[in-house]
Amino acid sequence: MTVLHEYVSQSKYIVFFGGAGVSTESGIPDFRSVDGLYNQTWKHPPEVMLSYDFFANKSKDFFEFYKNKLLHIDAQPNNAHLALAALEKSGKLKAVITQNIDGLHQKAGSENVLELHGSIWRNYCLGCKKIYDVNTIISAADIPFCLCGGVVRPDVVLYDESLDYDLMIKAMDHIAQADLLIIGGTSLGVYPAAGLLEVFKGNRLVLINKSSTHMDDVADLIIRDNIGDALSGFIE
Ligand code: ZN
Repeated sequence: MTVLHEYVSQSKYIVFFGGAGVSTESGIPDFRSVDGLYNQTWKHPPEVMLSYDFFANKSKDFFEFYKNKLLHIDAQPNNAHLALAALEKSGKLKAVITQNIDGLHQKAGSENVLELHGSIWRNYCLGCKKIYDVNTIISAADIPFCLCGGVVRPDVVLYDESLDYDLMIKAMDHIAQADLLIIGGTSLGVYPAAGLLEVFKGNRLVLINKSSTHMDDVADLIIRDNIGDALSGFIE
């Protein structure tokens, strides 16, 4: 039995908090990694091209970039997603809080997923608020329009937009109740991770990340491994 298995077996309220690293094994590049989008050649850096300002003023370029770089609709869940879904079914894991927008946790079978940065699978008209699926974005030549004439935008939090307040409260509530908090695939450098994690008062904190984080000192267990490998033992 690994230490992590031991922790899991002794816990009743597990919460997982994950970042981009959870999806890299599914072929979705991490924005901030060395091989990520920041080092690739586009007209502007991603934090500009994925801002509301850019979306509103250079809509064509926004959607070209978005479709090319953020829409990974064929990506499949990896062992990390599958293990977390299994832990939820077992009743131990109460919530997955993710900074990813790919919907892979749900694809793997997770139900209580708090998507802090939204989802590529949800889209809505800025004019009449009608909901559209991702095919509306994909099939549009450039800018997707609603029948009412409004632009259809992804329900994704752009760089200059704030996070959903109610969702943040829900996430904090879960973290505050957790007896075991597993953090994976994030260097914890990105807002809002740091603030959210401050409310954790549980017994055990586990970090699964290839590189060090500022929370390493307070972790009870650090696993320097691919997150899929680290969690694969929990797949049913
Ligand atoms: Zn509309």
